[in-house]
Amino acid sequence: MVKKRVLALILCAAMSMSVVGCGSTSSSDSGIPDGTYTGEGTGKGGKIVVELTMKDSKISDIKVVEHGETPGYADALEKMSAEMITKNTLEVDMVSGATLSSTGILEAVKDAFNKTGASTDKLVAQEGEVSKEEREAEYSADVIVLGGGGAGLTAAIEAAQNGASVILVEKMPMVGGNTLISGGEMAAPGNWLQEKESIEDSKEQFYQDILKGGDNENDPELVRVLADNATTDAEWLKNEIGVTFEDYMLFFGGHSVKRSLVPKDASGVELIQKLSAKAEEVGVITHLNTAATELVQEDGKVVAVKANFDGKEITYKASNGVILATGGFGSNLDMRIKYNEEMNEKILSTNSVGSTGDGITMAEKLGAQLVDMEYIQTYPTCDPETGTLLYVGDVRLEGRSILVNKEGKRFVEELERRDVISKATVAQTDSVSYMFWDEASMEASKVNVKHKKEYDNLIERGILVKADTIEDAAAHFGIDAEELKKTVANYNEYAANGKDLEFNKRGELVAFTDGPYYIMKSRPAIHHTMGGIKINTNAEVLNTAGEVIDGLYAAGEVTGDIHGTNRLGSDAIADITVFGRVAGRNAAKAE
Ligand code: ADP
Repeated sequence: MVKKRVLALILCAAMSMSVVGCGSTSSSDSGIPDGTYTGEGTGKGGKIVVELTMKDSKISDIKVVEHGETPGYADALEKMSAEMITKNTLEVDMVSGATLSSTGILEAVKDAFNKTGASTDKLVAQEGEVSKEEREAEYSADVIVLGGGGAGLTAAIEAAQNGASVILVEKMPMVGGNTLISGGEMAAPGNWLQEKESIEDSKEQFYQDILKGGDNENDPELVRVLADNATTDAEWLKNEIGVTFEDYMLFFGGHSVKRSLVPKDASGVELIQKLSAKAEEVGVITHLNTAATELVQEDGKVVAVKANFDGKEITYKASNGVILATGGFGSNLDMRIKYNEEMNEKILSTNSVGSTGDGITMAEKLGAQLVDMEYIQTYPTCDPETGTLLYVGDVRLEGRSILVNKEGKRFVEELERRDVISKATVAQTDSVSYMFWDEASMEASKVNVKHKKEYDNLIERGILVKADTIEDAAAHFGIDAEELKKTVANYNEYAANGKDLEFNKRGELVAFTDGPYYIMKSRPAIHHTMGGIKINTNAEVLNTAGEVIDGLYAAGEVTGDIHGTNRLGSDAIADITVFGRVAGRNAAKAE
C-alpha cells in the first residue's frame, strides 16, 4: 500500500471554493499557470476537497484537505493522488473496490485543474512508477488465512496468539470487507449493558431466537456454539482487542430482547481498525491486492494456496492449515442467479465488491459440501438509488419509527425479520417503503448526529425530508397525507394503550408528538448470503460425505447452515468473531 501521505490543510487566506487559485499565477510556456487550485468532488462518504498545486506546468502536489471516506477507502484517495503527481496526468486507474472514492478524487482534481483555465492536453504525461510492493514467488507459514474481513482478521489474531506464524491474504487494496461497511453491531446475550439495564436474557434464549429466525433450517450444533460464545467473545473484543463499544444497545428485528452491542460510532470501522492493529501487533503478515485462486491438496490435506498478485502467481504454503474467510457472494451476480433467480440484476446490493464467493468456489472444487445456497437476505431499508445500507434508518431499531407505503398506511411490523419486511416492501407501490418519525425520536436516537454525513447526503438528494408538518413531509414524496395522519393517530392510540392492534409491534411503543417530522424513502437490497461451506463445530470444512477435509477451515459469511433461511441483525458480527476464533485456534493447534 502507498505510504500514508499527510492529509494536511494548507491555509491560504485568499482562497475560497470559487476563487481561482492563490499565490502566483505566472503562465509557464505551455500555458498552465502556476498556483494552487481548490476543487470538489463527491466520494462514498460525501464531499472531497483537494488543493492542486501546479508548478512549471506540472502537478507538483495534491492535498486532500477534506474528505469523509472511511479508512481503507481513504487509501484510494492517497494512492490516486500519488499516481497523478508521479505521472503528471489525470488519467489514472481507479482503485478496485473503491469506485466511489476513486471517482470522487478524480472529480475533485479535475475540478481544481479546470480552474487553471488550461486544457488537460497541456499536461505532459511523464514516465514514472508509483512504488509497488514486491512479492516473492513462494511464502510459508503455519496458517494461511484467506480474506481480511472480520472473520479473517479474528482468525489470524487467534492463530497467532496460539503460537502459529500467520499470513493473511486479501484480494482488495484494503482489509475490511463487508465488516468494514457494516454497522458492526453484535448480539451478545447477558452482556454488560443488559445487566446495567436489568434486561433478562440467556444463551438459551439467544439460541432459540437464532433458530426461530432461521426457520429451524440452521444446524443446531453450530448455533449452540454461536449462542454460547457470543458474549465471551464480545468481551474479548472489548478487553483484548480494545474495541470501544457505545453505552447503548439496539433492538434488532427477530430478537426477543434488546441485546445488540454497538461499536464506536455504530460502524464496522471501529472493529476493523482495532482488529488490524492487533493483527499487526501479534505478528500477522498481511498481503493486500492478492487474490487466492486455488487450494492445493496433497494426500487429502490442504497444504497450500495459489494466489494472484499483479498478474503473478504466488504460492502460499501452510504447514498447519488454510482458513477460508473470503465472505459471501452478494456481489457475484452469476452466483446469485445460479442459486436464487429472484436475486437478479434488478436488485441492488449493500455488499463490498470483494464478496464474490471465491472461497466457496475454491472449496467446492475440493468436494466441500455447500448448504443453504438459495437463502439470500435483502436488507429492507437501503438507499433506493445506490443500494447502500442506510444507518439513519436505525431510528427504526430504537423502536421510534413506523414504515408506511405511498398510501400512508403501515404494512408490516417494523421490528419484524429482515426478510419479512423486505418481502412486504416489494409488494407495496413502487416497491419502496417510507420511514416516518418525529423530532423527539430524532433526539432520542440521534441518528442525524451519529450518521451526520449520510444524513446530510440524504437530505441533499431528497431521499430524506424534514418538514414542520406531516402534510409537508408527505407531499415531498406524494404520500397520501390524510391517511398518514390517521395512521399516526392510530399508532399514538396503540402507544397510549400499550398494544399495537394492527401489527403487534414488539418493544415499548412511543407515541409521536410535535414536528418537525421526517420521512425517508428506502427499498431492499441484497445484504447477506446465508448459504456457504458446511463446517463442523471446530470450523473444519466438511465434504459432501460429511467428512473433514484435512487442513481446511472456514469462518464467517463464507460458511452456511448457521443462520438457516435468514440471519438476524447483529448476528453476523457474533458469528465472525466466534467462528473466527474457533478456526484460528484449531488451525494453530493442528499438525
Ligand atoms: P466476513 O464477515 O465473513 O469476515 P467480509 O466480507 O467482511 O466477510 O470479508 C471477506 C474478505 O475476503 C473481504 O475483504 C474480501 O475482499 C476478501 N476476499 C474475497 N475473495 C478473496 C480472495 N479470492 N482472496 C483473498 N481475499 C478475498
